[in-house]
Amino acid sequence: MSATIIDGKAIAETVRGEAADRAAALEAATGVKPGLAVVLVGNDPASEVYVRNKARLTVAAGMASFEHKLRANTSEADLIALVERLNADPLVHGILVQMPLPGHIDSDRVVLAIDPAKDVDGLTPANAGRLVLGRGGLVPCTPQGCIILAKHALGPDLAGKEALVIGRSILVGKPVALLLQAESCTVTMAHSKTHDLAGHCRRADILVAAVGRPEMVKGDWIKPGAVVIDVGINRIAQEGGKTRLVGDVAYEEAREVAGAITPVPGGVGPMTIACLLQNTVTAAEAQVRPGA
Ligand code: NDP
Repeated sequence: MSATIIDGKAIAETVRGEAADRAAALEAATGVKPGLAVVLVGNDPASEVYVRNKARLTVAAGMASFEHKLRANTSEADLIALVERLNADPLVHGILVQMPLPGHIDSDRVVLAIDPAKDVDGLTPANAGRLVLGRGGLVPCTPQGCIILAKHALGPDLAGKEALVIGRSILVGKPVALLLQAESCTVTMAHSKTHDLAGHCRRADILVAAVGRPEMVKGDWIKPGAVVIDVGINRIAQEGGKTRLVGDVAYEEAREVAGAITPVPGGVGPMTIACLLQNTVTAAEAQVRPGA
């Protein structure tokens, strides 16, 4: 039997709608419109598309969007000075510095400069620490999206499920594993040194692949009925010089075995911006009504 396809596009639309409702309620109650500042250094075409989409969807959700486009040769000091101005700007509740940054800039130092209260990407050590300690804070967007999608497939209670996360990056793998642990899953984290990855996969009720290797997870690695969340975005060449996006999971094989699966594109991808908008409202609410 073929798997249920988890429609990330539709679920993301619902999440953006919820963010818009909360933004409107905050503005009606306090007069404050949540604001998101996005900083782009250089003109990487993929990053420019992301930033444009973020701005468009921020405005569509009734929030203020502030775009800062800096030249590729901007110094680290000038970028940090901008971040500090945004930290102090009462119209800005969320700050996102688009990664990757040009090689001459130390991205760790830039992230450290962001006020954790406005860190809507959830990347500052303060927010990462809160996630480890289970003390709230702003959670990275793509991992949050993975959990929402898993709950769509399995219902709100993930307790006791065997979860395997392939990948341990700070941006995706680690926070996904921590969030699944917070949901009382039994979590295994796999990485490039893991032995018998296929064996680990075959035990997983929830399998999250965040590797960056096209179609690495094969259909016969998947436990029948498992929920497969494919974070990978890989562009592969096709005949005739064209390219196509694929995930880290061999989708056609996997959908014959899995219970539910996210497609690429249209699965995890759209959730990232939706969760960014949610984080922006959460940050604005906390800044406008501290302790509420
Ligand atoms: P990283 O390159 O930072 O991390 C990749 C992880 O995969 C590492 O932990 C690495 O292990 C592990 N890995 C590499 N090879 C293997 C292997 N053969 N077997 C098992 N594990 C392996 O990538 P990211 O976490 O940033 O991104 C992962 C993927 O998700 C990419 O395709 C990226 O494009 C996509 N992505 C999608 C987003 C979305 O919105 N949908 C957002 C962010 C990322 P080790 O630690 O040992 O090196």
